[in-house]
Amino acid sequence: MALGFYFDNTRCTGCRTCEMACIDYRDLTVGRRYRRVIDFEGGTTVEEDGVVRTDAFVYHVSLSCCHCEHPACMHVCPTGAMHKNDLGLVEVDVRRCIGCGYCTIACPYHAPSIDPVLKRSSKCDGCTERVSAGKLPICVEACPLRALEFGDMDELRDAHPETTQSILPLPEARYTNPNLLILPSPAALRAAEEGGHISNELEIANNIE
Ligand code: SF4
Ligand code: SF4
Ligand code: SF4
Repeated sequence: MALGFYFDNTRCTGCRTCEMACIDYRDLTVGRRYRRVIDFEGGTTVEEDGVVRTDAFVYHVSLSCCHCEHPACMHVCPTGAMHKNDLGLVEVDVRRCIGCGYCTIACPYHAPSIDPVLKRSSKCDGCTERVSAGKLPICVEACPLRALEFGDMDELRDAHPETTQSILPLPEARYTNPNLLILPSPAALRAAEEGGHISNELEIANNIE
């Protein structure tokens, strides 16, 4: 059984409650986050004869570690610190981590980062402690739009058959086979055809104060 996330891109308003709930629960220092909300926008705005016309679009992607089936972070870790725990969630054993940062380079989702104080890798562990106690991850519970779900991937797939594993700007799923299902919004489907760009690059970088 694999555990993972479902993200409803049609519901997400980009409010950041999930991100803040995680920061608070995990007591992360300023500028650090295990879940990030990416703003993605596209379309054009033109002014002609004093009239402004726009077909601009924007959508939001709430992203944490995807607890991948083939985790690139684990493959490059020289000490075995990055591992799958008893629940199949990918986590860091800080006693074995030497802070080399290979996982931060290998992960196509930029999930792990080196804690500037501990000098060790750290990232989302899927709220292992809560899940072990029969609870949901705090980010999932916090979302006011119920845009996030967590659970057995087979059950999530059955409940949400119209999903994909990737929308822009996420990497193609074939690299790590993420345990992540996404219901794309009309804007994300448009972006797949027309492209677009991340509009909050600085905000989502880790270890920025
Ligand atoms: S998202 Fe990145 S850190 Fe998480 S399991 Fe996949 S490769 Fe590893
Ligand atoms: S599952 Fe837990 S650690 Fe991971 S992003 Fe959500 S709240 Fe943070
Ligand atoms: S709390 Fe929900 S609606 Fe708000 S940014 Fe996170 S996933 Fe989106």
